[in-house]
Amino acid sequence: MPEDGRLGKPPSIAGPGDANVDDQTRRQLADLRDRLGPHTPVAVLTGAGVSSASGIPTFRGRDDSLWSQYRPEDLATPEAFARDPELVWRWYDWRRGLIAANRPNPAHAALARLGERMLLTVITQNVNGYHQQAGSRDVVEYHGSIWTTRCTRCHRRAEDRRVPLPIPPRCPDCGGLLRPGVVWFGEAIPPEASDAATAATIRCRVFLVIGTAGAVYPAAGLVGLARSHGAYVAEFNLERSAVTASADLFVEGNAADTVPLLLGA
Ligand SMILES: [Zn+2]
Repeated sequence: MPEDGRLGKPPSIAGPGDANVDDQTRRQLADLRDRLGPHTPVAVLTGAGVSSASGIPTFRGRDDSLWSQYRPEDLATPEAFARDPELVWRWYDWRRGLIAANRPNPAHAALARLGERMLLTVITQNVNGYHQQAGSRDVVEYHGSIWTTRCTRCHRRAEDRRVPLPIPPRCPDCGGLLRPGVVWFGEAIPPEASDAATAATIRCRVFLVIGTAGAVYPAAGLVGLARSHGAYVAEFNLERSAVTASADLFVEGNAADTVPLLLGA
């Protein structure tokens, strides 16, 4: 499975049987499944690694797209938008098209099924809406949603699923310039999302870290918060990360292959 999720790659259709985990990890996963009772509060922090199997670039690995000459730090900032809103909107419009043309993968589906069985909150750093599309109901969009816009003049928020968008999109109420409803570099997490994430993290008995290196604050701080409140922490990542040393369980591999193991045989 490519870790860069190149444009055009079909989503993974690998089932749990294809995950290459060793016997010790399988035993630990069985122990983790035993902890996941119907009344166990669970919080899940997800990042770009959950989306890569759906064909969505992580913007951290290799990328052969037409946008590869740009760094996200040069496009996903208030300064970039002030300088050249059309450029920023063309990038977001391209990403929206990519997300619309792909779909959730077995990792999203497995979390949605777990959510039917227990009190599970997904805290996602992804803006693509795939968790909800897969059926998860309790989702905290920590970094906002690429499917919402906010008016820079009257501050109206709205869902907007048009693909492609007229560029730049204008507010239907006041004609002001719209901006993507996402959290940019240098911006604060919306208080509602931050509060909901903190509450779910403090409440949980099991905290799952999936497809995120746990390196970007404030999301990274949630892992420490969960630990300090006594939660069992399990990490599902392609490789070891800043989280691994303090995790009770590390499962190596692509999330689309490993997360379905939580559902059992
Ligand atoms: Zn407006």
